[in-house]
Amino acid sequence: ALANPLLKVRDLNAWYGESHALHGVSLDVGEGETITLLGRNGVGKTTTLRAIMGILRKRTGQIEFAGRDLMQMPLHRTAHMGLGFVPEERGIFSTLTVDENLLLPPVVSKGGMEVEEIFELFPNLKERRNSPGTKLSGGEQQMLAIARMLRTGVKLLLLDEPTEGLAPVIVERIGEVLSTLKKRGMTILLVEQNFRFASRIADRFYLMEHGRITADFPVAELDQRMAVLHEVIGV
Ligand code: ATP
Repeated sequence: ALANPLLKVRDLNAWYGESHALHGVSLDVGEGETITLLGRNGVGKTTTLRAIMGILRKRTGQIEFAGRDLMQMPLHRTAHMGLGFVPEERGIFSTLTVDENLLLPPVVSKGGMEVEEIFELFPNLKERRNSPGTKLSGGEQQMLAIARMLRTGVKLLLLDEPTEGLAPVIVERIGEVLSTLKKRGMTILLVEQNFRFASRIADRFYLMEHGRITADFPVAELDQRMAVLHEVIGV
């Protein structure tokens, strides 16, 4: 456990109806860290992000962000505090243009990036600024989804499989963007199946199995963990 984590999760349990999906998940994300949740399909990685955000509300345990209790906080307040969730399906406005998507951020709090600053970070989005969401490639949609969160002044980015279904060159590009954000001090909690991608940007890993965290280790220990990871997630 970290001394003063930005995000502190303790003994988190969560349910879909009667189905008990998370069993006592504890994790820390330090300010400026990039953390990756690893695990096979269906082990509860997405559920962990949804329970932290408060989208999934049938939950028990402790969730603190910047020292504030998130358990009783309504979802819109969580967003105002600086948590930003990019779901697997991305959640951009597909009928609106890139510009329009960026001018309609979900919430705006202090520290939100200006559109021009966003375009410096994502030059390809600038070229596509008048294209509707439906005409963007998967990679461009992912970048737009992240860009919208940057407009809000997000402090902790929760990303659910940002590289899913994308071509290797685009995965590379998203890796560069996340590295740049990391250099600027962004804190990132990432669910990722693409292990090579994750190992390039993550500082630490948590491994999930059957709704539980079963290992956690820093990137420096990756080599010695490979045998276990191979067995558990088949990397
Ligand atoms: P994936 O990468 O496939 O999303 P995951 O590790 O993120 O995998 P979750 O999506 O968190 O896994 O799912 C955890 C468990 O909860 C699974 O058994 C799944 O079937 C179940 N589950 C997920 N969403 C729902 C839902 N809306 N209603 C009921 N059960 C659900």
